Amino acid sequence: MVVESQSKYIVAVVGGAVSGAEAAATLADRGIEVVVLEQNMKPYGKIEDGLPRWHDKQRAQEYERINAKLDRPGVHFVPGVKLGRDVSFEDLAKHWGFSAVLLANGAWKDRPVGIDGLDDYVGKGLVYQNPLVYWFNHYEEKGYDGPRYTIEDDCMVLGGGLASYDVVKIVMLELVGRALRARGHNHSMLHLEHKGIAAVLKEHGLTLEDLGVKGCTLYYRRRALDMPVAAYKENATPEERKKTEEVRERLLQNAMTKFLFRFEPLHLPTGFLLENGKLVGLRFIRTEIKDGKVLKLPGTEVEKRASMIISSIGSIPEPIPGVPQKGEFYIFAEDGAAKLSGYDNVFGVGNVVTGKGNIAVSRKHSATIAGLVARDYLKVAPEGAAVLPETLFGKTESKVHGQAGSVAEAIAQLPQMTEPLRERIHGRIRELQQKVGFDGDYRAWIRRMMPTDAV
Ligand SMILES: Cc1cc2nc3c(=O)[nH]c(=O)nc-3n(C[C@H](O)[C@H](O)[C@H](O)COP(=O)(O)OP(=O)(O)OC[C@H]3O[C@@H](n4cnc5c(N)ncnc54)[C@H](O)[C@@H]3O)c2cc1C
Repeated sequence: MVVESQSKYIVAVVGGAVSGAEAAATLADRGIEVVVLEQNMKPYGKIEDGLPRWHDKQRAQEYERINAKLDRPGVHFVPGVKLGRDVSFEDLAKHWGFSAVLLANGAWKDRPVGIDGLDDYVGKGLVYQNPLVYWFNHYEEKGYDGPRYTIEDDCMVLGGGLASYDVVKIVMLELVGRALRARGHNHSMLHLEHKGIAAVLKEHGLTLEDLGVKGCTLYYRRRALDMPVAAYKENATPEERKKTEEVRERLLQNAMTKFLFRFEPLHLPTGFLLENGKLVGLRFIRTEIKDGKVLKLPGTEVEKRASMIISSIGSIPEPIPGVPQKGEFYIFAEDGAAKLSGYDNVFGVGNVVTGKGNIAVSRKHSATIAGLVARDYLKVAPEGAAVLPETLFGKTESKVHGQAGSVAEAIAQLPQMTEPLRERIHGRIRELQQKVGFDGDYRAWIRRMMPTDAV
């Protein structure tokens, strides 16, 4: 157990979800005091607002994993504080007196489709994945006051990754659930998802056509076998790669059979169609894949109409004033290493570094980087405490390893925590906690914040 007053360092972690909670626990295990700043009242991030709510068992499990890590001595949870809005990055990194700052704030901005002028139609025919999934996960809660959507029939989804499967499923569940209810067949979303739309329709002796539902089409610029829904093994042989590609094709086929959506591979969006000022579809060019690259095929432009266009082509970190950024990503010193460019004391963990990854990868990355920060930067990890792989996210860890010596030398005079400084930080934390009515009892707070009527 960490005795706070003995901790030589206090580290701030921004974001309390999978990566933030993991980093907090990793540091706390090494006797470092941690302050977790979380923009929302609950700390669950993509688990609550990204992972569709039919993953009910997994969500409950992940919630508890996060709870157990945030509810421990030496970890201060500070809800309702957004970096860049309530606290400036500059202030946090330079003036609070933290020994280090770990950014675990994930990827919450949708990657733009990248067609000039198309984003003018957001909310007017164009919808992005993050707000849509947030709505889907919460709209049945009492008092829900976020964005509202009505899924239109005969729509299109742009994507290709695992998240885009979830989006086409949301669309089909909404459309078919609604059409069945209109005929007096009330099925919960969970039942429809677990059993599958095709099976439920069969039970009723119905087809999509009988219901008058056209459904939706997933458009992808590559092929089914390229979909990053199953990863190649490291150093995979050509046979092993082929097996992975077959798994990808099978996964898509199974999803289409169960949820009755359509798939159009090798379509790259290039423009949009308007009628009377209304967005009515997209223009695509057909593609081919050569040596892993997407090549446009001249003269193959096609127009596809849709009642609604949903983009699910990836998430990127939200810009925060003061955080150096190049293109879509924060600049983690060269090659995406975990140390923020221009700062010796700021590091990134989880989705915020890559903008992608899954729960397990995010957790592992966070534990590894937090372990390295403790061992190589703060020099407080117990001897031989962590087994640190060198290959996670390419060169990330080896970069941190490589830099660790020089970084550690450069900050050999890292300010030690003094009692007045600790008191000042504690005072600021208490002030922020009191603003939202959090009295430090983590479990009681979570019980208060959990919706009682959520599915
Ligand atoms: C639709 C969808 C489906 C998915 N399905 C799966 C799946 O089936 N299996 C799987 O393993 N993974 C899945 N994932 C991915 C998985 O959810 C993420 O990889 C993982 O949860 C990321 O964790 P994280 O802690 O790095 O980021 P996040 O969960 O995004 O956490 C970031 C935290 O930081 C907070 N934050 C953000 N900005 C600020 C700020 N400025 N100040 C303070 N706090 C801030 C956020 O509120 C959030 O709590 C899915 C993702 C999506 C979107």
